[in-house]
Amino acid sequence: MPNKPSSSNLYRGIKCPASYELKSRETEWRPPQVQAAANKGTAIHRFLEEVGIGVPYVTALERVKEEWRGLASNINIPRVIPFGGRHEVAWKYNVQHRTVEELGVSKNRDYGDLTMTEVPGTVDWYKVENDHALIRDYKTGTFNPEPDIKVHAQLSFFSSAIQIHHGQVKKLRHELVWIDKKGKETIEGADVSVKMLNVYRDKLYSMHMGRISARKSLKNGNSPKVTEGSWCRYCPAFKACPIKTKKREEKARRKAERDNE
Ligand code: SF4
Repeated sequence: MPNKPSSSNLYRGIKCPASYELKSRETEWRPPQVQAAANKGTAIHRFLEEVGIGVPYVTALERVKEEWRGLASNINIPRVIPFGGRHEVAWKYNVQHRTVEELGVSKNRDYGDLTMTEVPGTVDWYKVENDHALIRDYKTGTFNPEPDIKVHAQLSFFSSAIQIHHGQVKKLRHELVWIDKKGKETIEGADVSVKMLNVYRDKLYSMHMGRISARKSLKNGNSPKVTEGSWCRYCPAFKACPIKTKKREEKARRKAERDNE
């Protein structure tokens, strides 16, 4: 499985850049419940995008699989999708040069070839008015490893790209729109300054340097430096991770000792 930086995994990548360089799972296997949650998320995102770009509501709703149609029909559209704005816009950000390129709309995460310094991502919805930008990400799950929305890695990626692309933007707001299993929304938001985005861009650059360092260590036959935390959940390099391997070996050794007693 290609394990490259993208907006959705930057929280892990910033904390543990080596996770991109270690051997990853070869197939994109996910536990069934995780896969089902991902399928639901994709269906609801698609529904919101279609309604947002003007597909008739009834048509968009009919296209949602029956199992999630009830949930979709309960969503308060005017509250979840403010008037105007842009949906599913893909970006490519260069961590070294701090430049951004808009790749298009509704790209289905198909970003083409990328260099090591380029990180892609697709924003669910955003709107720019004068020097203000509002950036929204829709969430249909419940797991949130990043409680501080101001410095949320994925939203910061989008606001960083939008702020560079729309040079006049000086004030930004991050919003996470949580949609529960009944279709009810909860909106969490935080204001963000350009200064905070500059700090975030520094973090992306450090992440890039961390990857280079990890790549060198691996090339020389050494273990790269890794950092454990809540971001390890779903890390595709879990099996190759030196800390996790050490823990697995330790656990197996203790079990063998117990079995021999
Ligand atoms: S599992 Fe290992 S490589 Fe992956 S994020 Fe955690 S510490 Fe880093």
